[in-house]
Amino acid sequence: ERLLAIETSCDETAAAVVQGGSNVLSNVVASQIDSHKRFGGVVPEIASRHHTETITMIMEEALNEAGLTFSDLDGIAVTEGPGLVGALLVGVNAAKAAAFAHGLPLLPVHHIAGHIQAARLERKWQYPALALVVSGGHTDLVLLREEGDYEVIGRTRDDAAGEAYDKVARTLGLPYPGGPHVDQLASTGRADIPLPIAWLEEGSFDFSFSGLKSAVLNTVHNAEQRGETLSTADVAASFQASVIEVLVEKTRRAAEEYEVKQVVLAGGVAANQGLRAAMEDAFKEAGPALTIPPFRYCTDNAAMIGAAAHIQWKKGITACWDLNGVPGLALY
Ligand code: ATP
Ligand code: MG
Ligand code: FE
Repeated sequence: ERLLAIETSCDETAAAVVQGGSNVLSNVVASQIDSHKRFGGVVPEIASRHHTETITMIMEEALNEAGLTFSDLDGIAVTEGPGLVGALLVGVNAAKAAAFAHGLPLLPVHHIAGHIQAARLERKWQYPALALVVSGGHTDLVLLREEGDYEVIGRTRDDAAGEAYDKVARTLGLPYPGGPHVDQLASTGRADIPLPIAWLEEGSFDFSFSGLKSAVLNTVHNAEQRGETLSTADVAASFQASVIEVLVEKTRRAAEEYEVKQVVLAGGVAANQGLRAAMEDAFKEAGPALTIPPFRYCTDNAAMIGAAAHIQWKKGITACWDLNGVPGLALY
């Protein structure tokens, strides 16, 4: 089947045509980063307005790139949540209008299921599988006993990994979104500044990054007050090392405890070079197979929504015309 997938949960207006859940016929992403940069973060009102202005064009572009028209499609998939409500609503309404006008089924998709299923665009998996989801709003360990069955076994208790990256970037005077800049800077520094790692209770697969974030802030401010010069590259490297150590170690432990055959790295922070390398190192020996999507499928895109929609399609799950954008939607 061929699905047109739409994603507008945050600040990317995206549409893609995906065939059979893994064959990406087109993948169009319009980023709004330039419009939000001067505010140091995503401004919801501006995001909605941009989505409204561009969604029709982006959908047409996705169809054109695939060399198809609406009559060649079998359904329209759209991110239902979580995300910014005003942003979600633009995609949901565009999807509803197109599905209604062309007599196509409407498939609702959870954004995080999309991030996870991005790894299926690359390779088939074996089950049970474990996904480490690290993004702007999430740091979750998700167990999949079978296809499309999501159980969150660990989550962040405060900041998400991506959020911590963006805040540390701001402290270091790097532009928004800071993740990629910290990543790059970290590769040139030495991880020799002592920073805390929150392991939490024995056996817990939860995460916490607010203590680490505050420690970075204090380290930088204390150095400033004493008039000392601190290498920002060393701060970035030390912060990144702390984040990676806890992410990789908890993933390794969970993979062992649940005897998974497949490990997946997902979400925008999965674009992090240091994290990718550390995960590859941790799972290079016999044990579960590791799949990391290419960069373009890590940060928000619609191809991943098409991949997740394929599972909905197989189960025959469709939405009614009253489908809404749900900001705090639970994973399904
Ligand atoms: P969610 O998916 O939780 O709803 P989101 O969609 O806003 O949140 P994503 O687009 O998946 O988040 O990821 C964006 C985040 O990824 C940002 O916080 C960004 O800084 C971070 N990020 C992107 N590239 C890198 C990198 N190379 N290293 C670290 N972080 C990165
Ligand atoms: Mg984004
Ligand atoms: Fe996302």
